[in-house]
Amino acid sequence: MSNIVFPENIGVTNYGTVRLGKNFIADGNDKTGKARIRIQTHAHKDHTDKWIRNIRPGRALVTSKPTLAILSLEYPHVNINTNIHTLSNSETILSTDLIQDRFLQERIIENAEITLFDANHMVGSSQVFIKNHDTGISVLYSGDIGWPLEIIPKADILVLDATYSRIKTSENKEWERKDAISKILTLISSNLAVQPIYIYARYGVMQEIVEKIIENIDTEINFVASDEIITKTEIIANFKSSTPINFKKEDDKYELKNVIHLKEFHKKQNESLTGLNLTITNFRSQNSSPERVVDNNYQNIVIALTNHASGDEISNYVESVNPKYVITDSFRNSTNAEILADEITKKFKIPAIPSTLSSVWKD
Ligand SMILES: [Zn+2]
Repeated sequence: MSNIVFPENIGVTNYGTVRLGKNFIADGNDKTGKARIRIQTHAHKDHTDKWIRNIRPGRALVTSKPTLAILSLEYPHVNINTNIHTLSNSETILSTDLIQDRFLQERIIENAEITLFDANHMVGSSQVFIKNHDTGISVLYSGDIGWPLEIIPKADILVLDATYSRIKTSENKEWERKDAISKILTLISSNLAVQPIYIYARYGVMQEIVEKIIENIDTEINFVASDEIITKTEIIANFKSSTPINFKKEDDKYELKNVIHLKEFHKKQNESLTGLNLTITNFRSQNSSPERVVDNNYQNIVIALTNHASGDEISNYVESVNPKYVITDSFRNSTNAEILADEITKKFKIPAIPSTLSSVWKD
């Protein structure tokens, strides 16, 4: 693959910033200061490093309204800033309209169209499509993608998330996503009246599970959560127009029956509480069941339920984009990025490299 020259300024840096052209970055800070426009695909913390720097004069931040709402929790006054541009699903904005001339100090912003397409990963999550009229190149950054996707644009270059999926691994997966959800619902139904339940999950997946519980379990349930989880859940309910949950305070939990505690995923590392502990992970390594019992008394159960597309789905995605080049994201999982690039090269005969080999890895 070394004799094929990939277009310049596109790839992922060794500190995780995705470059989509000379002036365009996504989901990371620009240490070189070259790019003035940052696109934010979603609000998961591993993608939001130093986003606030890109709302200063002379810079621009492009994202969706729900993503901005979640980001703003850290900085409540951010909404009034005119350097932030929010796009709806499938809406396009011109790069040249984003920064006022007086702030550019004679720098020229490449003339491009920027469009966000829904990524079905969490509320507000987006794929980023940039049609650069100066270079003639169109580039798509998948961001974290779930499945199915309503729109998958065609692009010359695809920068692909490689955190979890390989094309081959899902071939022998015997269970589907809906089996994992039904496993969770069964465990909750059978334990609800018996003992407290603790669910450890990431933002987005947690709210999806809560929605399924409310839809499918016909009992009055008392949800208990931290202020942060409550606020974030309300943001999702607001954007999805779903019924708000009547949360109970942490202090009241001892008097309540049918209690489900919603907990931040990372807290599971330091906690083991009496009751049923359900940890929801992204990993999908087991083939026989989405469930893994950690101890022998059925108190700690890990369930694989992810909002990341599976191997087959990634394969369909690449096929739909039909790119001339693929760059896989090495920052979040470097081994997987190499394997995935290799699989894409073999399966589609498209030049594919991990981002460690991209022109911007060490910029
Ligand atoms: Zn994510």
